[in-house]
Amino acid sequence: AAKKSKLNSYKLFSPAMERASFKHFELQNDLRKAIHSDEFELYYQPKVRSHTRQIVGAEALIRWNHPTRGIVSPGEFIPLAEESGLIVPLGEWVLENVCKQIRKWEAKGYPAIVVSLNFSALQMLQKGLVDTVEAILDEHNVAGESIEIEITESLILNDDSDLLKKLEQLRELGIRIAIDDFGTGYSSLSYLTKYKFNTIKLDRSFIHDIHTSPDNQAIIKFIIQLSNQLKMKVVAEGVELEEQLAHLVEMNCDEIQGFLFSKPLPVGQFERLL
Ligand code: C2E
Ligand code: MG
Ligand code: MG
Ligand code: MG
Repeated sequence: AAKKSKLNSYKLFSPAMERASFKHFELQNDLRKAIHSDEFELYYQPKVRSHTRQIVGAEALIRWNHPTRGIVSPGEFIPLAEESGLIVPLGEWVLENVCKQIRKWEAKGYPAIVVSLNFSALQMLQKGLVDTVEAILDEHNVAGESIEIEITESLILNDDSDLLKKLEQLRELGIRIAIDDFGTGYSSLSYLTKYKFNTIKLDRSFIHDIHTSPDNQAIIKFIIQLSNQLKMKVVAEGVELEEQLAHLVEMNCDEIQGFLFSKPLPVGQFERLL
């Protein structure tokens, strides 16, 4: 049977697909080495209060400085890291580095900000996740209140009591939990009450035409009101234009993240904004 499927696969693969799968294979291999050869770097994108434009937080976003390909975006390699399970040690690396960075900013006397980081579904589903997070925070002497974990709704589709329990335990450590990319995929209002997120991040596909689409305005306005009722903070992602910001300010959206203020920046450049 194995032979047969191999033969079939030869017929099915076009040269372009073969090149794509070779690249996939190569990146997968390189990824394994990258974590040991220090090729990852965290960029930080500011989150600002919409009314005052004051920086109140940052999202840590991983970048891979590939030795020959240059910077590879997380959109490309995070799925590969999930596929191989490498996302688990990589996620720990991210948390470690966020903690170190928080301590450095503290030592340099910068005002305290909450740093958000993304956890993938596979990471959240790990057995010892909460213990690992607690150990890393302790090791670096960082308070849970200093960080926020962003998760996406793909995780919620796997809905189970284990996830609810983990989120509860993370919150007991003082860590905030955000639902990322809200409004994409299978967003359901019912899980907003079930999971008690601290923050809801409106996906940038919503924000994109907020200034031209009365329908999207109505939806966003509704979600913001609902979030306020449920005591969640609202962050709008992908704000690129003053017009978009104006609508969000009027709707009382709490925080803004987007190219209008800044792209994700390497640490040195981010510090200049602080
Ligand atoms: P995300 O968590 O939704 O992060 C926001 C993404 O939107 C970032 O892309 C950011 O650069 C981009 N963005 C922010 N403002 C704007 C804007 O005004 N316009 C446009 N066009 N884009 C904007 P990035 O850094 O390429 O990250 C993509 C995704 O990769 C993230 O989406 C997140 O899901 C994932 N990711 C990034 N870092 C990590 C990580 O450390 N761990 C995990 N598990 N996933 C990560
Ligand atoms: Mg995010
Ligand atoms: Mg997002
Ligand atoms: Mg995303």
